[in-house]
Amino acid sequence: MRVVTGTICHETSTFTPVATTWESYRERFGYRRGEEILEIFSATNTPTGGFIEGARAHGFALIPTIFAEPQPSGPTPRDIFDEILEEMLSGIRSAGAIDGVLLQLHGAMVAEGLDDGEGHILEAVREVVGPDVPVVGQLDIHSNISHRMVEMADVLIGRETYPEVDMAERGRECADVLVRIVEEGVRPTMALHQIDMVWGMNQVTAHPPMREAIAELHRIESEAGVICGSIATCFPLADIPDMGASVYIVTDGDRDLAQAYADELGAWLFERRADWHFERKTTREALVEAKASGKFPVVIADRDDNTGGGSPGDSTGMLRAFLDADLQDACILYMVDPESVAQCHEAGVGAELNLVVGGKSSPMQGDPCRMKGLVKAISDGRFRYDGPMFEGLGGNMGDSAHISQGGVHVLLVSRQEQPFDTAFARTLELDPKHCRYIGVKSAAHFRAGYESWAGAIYSVSEPSVHNPAAGRLAFKRLGRKLYPLDDI
Ligand SMILES: [Zn+2]
Repeated sequence: MRVVTGTICHETSTFTPVATTWESYRERFGYRRGEEILEIFSATNTPTGGFIEGARAHGFALIPTIFAEPQPSGPTPRDIFDEILEEMLSGIRSAGAIDGVLLQLHGAMVAEGLDDGEGHILEAVREVVGPDVPVVGQLDIHSNISHRMVEMADVLIGRETYPEVDMAERGRECADVLVRIVEEGVRPTMALHQIDMVWGMNQVTAHPPMREAIAELHRIESEAGVICGSIATCFPLADIPDMGASVYIVTDGDRDLAQAYADELGAWLFERRADWHFERKTTREALVEAKASGKFPVVIADRDDNTGGGSPGDSTGMLRAFLDADLQDACILYMVDPESVAQCHEAGVGAELNLVVGGKSSPMQGDPCRMKGLVKAISDGRFRYDGPMFEGLGGNMGDSAHISQGGVHVLLVSRQEQPFDTAFARTLELDPKHCRYIGVKSAAHFRAGYESWAGAIYSVSEPSVHNPAAGRLAFKRLGRKLYPLDDI
């Protein structure tokens, strides 16, 4: 059995000023081609890592094409998108006779002039392989699923954890399903139910109420005839017609059954629509509560300047609140500010210098913050994740510096990336575990590396490009009425 694989994976915010360039594709995990993909992603907690594991377990040949996964940011320019897609397609064409395709996609990709990136990719792949070669795709949980995607793929499988620690597991599931199609004659048919709802931030799968939603999904997956099913909690920072939550279910040859289960779970989730949202606190409010409760270390997570959602990562709301409170044993992970990093590198470790930190990417990120920073450590930003997310994979924050002012330590970085674990901080002589107050710019993925030892976690909202201080995000192109944007 011969299977071709490729990755074009990008979560696109249509509201961020962070541009997506060729450089975006080359940094992070690198723009990869051919055999090196199998070396780099083998034994990593990534979807491609799961494909590789599946190939070894089932003994099929996995033929790699390209791997392209930049950090979330703005829409990909059309010429870059077309070139990347063409390179993947030509890899598929030159693979010769194949039995299947395994794709690592996101489900929330937008390119210039293309609202439905994955629909376009899947249609192009289908055109190359024809109707009889199964195409199986592994998606993020934060996907905006279109009818075209469901029509063009044989099977799509989304993650069912958030933080998304099941990347390799879902990749492996894709490989397993593909083998069942090729060797056991399973005939998958997929149905989509688009829910009239934007999912809020109450979606951490280890806790109620999200835990019950996943249990409901698992109940349906265990029903006779069902191959697999997924819930997409949507990616809400995209002003596109298919933005919104959905359910997609795959059965063995029974389209009506798939639709019935998708509709049933979709209705179940919509009935509970208020449960998936929670109130927004500010950092200052969270600090008052944290001090009163005395459960340390406390993690305060700014869900809005989350670089993992494409935000610039230089909003100053949380930093200013930490400095104003004169916190001791506190840290902020991270402030994206290459200019300040360069000043620290020039001054060297031990130097004290006046810095203007953050607030540079957009006026919506708050005013820059004046700091008198002592440079504690500098680095080129390279490290290795110690998991569980991306465990084993190399990371790169670009030139970085650890500065402190009083008891507040700030990690300044040059690239947008959220903290998935503490590995990078430790390369800069900062162990967040030893801090009392930890500020992160991350919606939930930090939990993968922090929740097990945190005393308390607070989700906060500070002004940013994704949380305008004045008014709300200006959606113009949505395709359906959506709770809670609309009164339904
Ligand atoms: Zn996600």
